[in-house]
Amino acid sequence: MNTYEIIKKKRDGHALSKEEIDYLINGFTAGDIPDYQMAAFLMAVYFRGMQPPECVDLTMSMVGSGSTIDLAPIKGFTVDKHSTGGVGDKTTLVLAPLVASCGVVVAKMTGRELGHTGGTADKFESIPGMRMSFSKEQFVEIANRIQVSIISQTETLTPADKLMYALRNVTATVDAIPLIASSIMSKKLAAGADGIVLDVKTGAGSFMPEYSDAVNLAKTMVAIGEGAGRKCTAFLTGMAQPLGHAIGNAVEVREAIDTLNGAGPSDLTELVLALGGEMLTLAGIADSRTDATKVLQSSLTTGMAARKFQDLIEAQGGNPGVVKNPELLPQAKQQLALKSNHAGFVQEINALEVGMAAKILGAGRQTKEQGIDLSIGIVLKKKVGDSVEPGETFAILHTDGDQTKIDPASKRLLRAYTIGPDHTDAGNLIQARVAADSIEEYGL
Ligand code: URA
Repeated sequence: MNTYEIIKKKRDGHALSKEEIDYLINGFTAGDIPDYQMAAFLMAVYFRGMQPPECVDLTMSMVGSGSTIDLAPIKGFTVDKHSTGGVGDKTTLVLAPLVASCGVVVAKMTGRELGHTGGTADKFESIPGMRMSFSKEQFVEIANRIQVSIISQTETLTPADKLMYALRNVTATVDAIPLIASSIMSKKLAAGADGIVLDVKTGAGSFMPEYSDAVNLAKTMVAIGEGAGRKCTAFLTGMAQPLGHAIGNAVEVREAIDTLNGAGPSDLTELVLALGGEMLTLAGIADSRTDATKVLQSSLTTGMAARKFQDLIEAQGGNPGVVKNPELLPQAKQQLALKSNHAGFVQEINALEVGMAAKILGAGRQTKEQGIDLSIGIVLKKKVGDSVEPGETFAILHTDGDQTKIDPASKRLLRAYTIGPDHTDAGNLIQARVAADSIEEYGL
């Protein structure tokens, strides 16, 4: 076996064997196969694709490139959730304590910001004292004690993915379905949960703007999860605008707390109930998604979900007082209202532009080394379908008062909004559900 033959075989459109894939991934991770050969292979995959068994083999080979988390010491069925990345996506902050309060163990790893999308680990860290880094033993102990534990991704998990992702980023091979699917699923499988619920974003500002591509990505990931012996389903959810109203870190935690108290934005609540319903059903806690939704709703209204969030914060060293008193979260120096010059209805809010505006304000990192001001962010007062009058506030910037950031961020945010004369519907947030043997489509 040699690397040249493997690249040529894929270039000519043939399926690779497990042995060939292992040879390539092991050799690349060990540094024996150079970047230029791996880059050629990635481009061959981009054009030729991979068969479902090859996707499973590639993913498992990437899982084997590093350490894995053994969740066997955790009592009960563990469920993980993954989103392909959204703007204002604070779903995990709500979902993890909510689902745990209904009896499903959520022991999960979560990432930092990627491109224009924020990272859940950063959001959690805006809670004073909250730690996202624990030993495996502490992670398991917390999950067993309170049914939920969330830590940031460890460095030793799937090193092959880290190396391949860096190369894909500079060789125009990020947006290939087998490569995205194996990258995401290798991390999920290495993290050990029995069940995985995926939130595949589609529409402007997402990795897969085309609905049909997003369906294929969802099918590929579900097939990989099931092929690896896990229970796995995916939802396709629209990203025609940011999720909820808040974009940033502390501002998103505040919105998550509102949602846990049953007073969150309707889109975020709808998504949390759909993903949570699936998690409860996969875990066998509920017989149907309808029953599961009732259980989840009751946890929101009785305060059980909010109490579980307090338990999680306390167990991970944070100040649980933020749940009753969100003013304890970092507060920005200045709040600035952006006013509309137009009258009409909001037709569209480009999520990518809003994400970039938040980043420019200081809610995200401009360089790898830079820290984040966790108090900074944007709160949208108008969403798609809302009417706007001239002089009315459409967004509030939470800033550090630095005009050199405020000016370009405001421009970018203005550009994100399209305002027109006719009322527009935001469309379906949840567009499809993909399971191992079925797809339910709800329309765009
Ligand atoms: N997120 C990942 O982790 N990997 C990809 O390839 C794309 C999104």
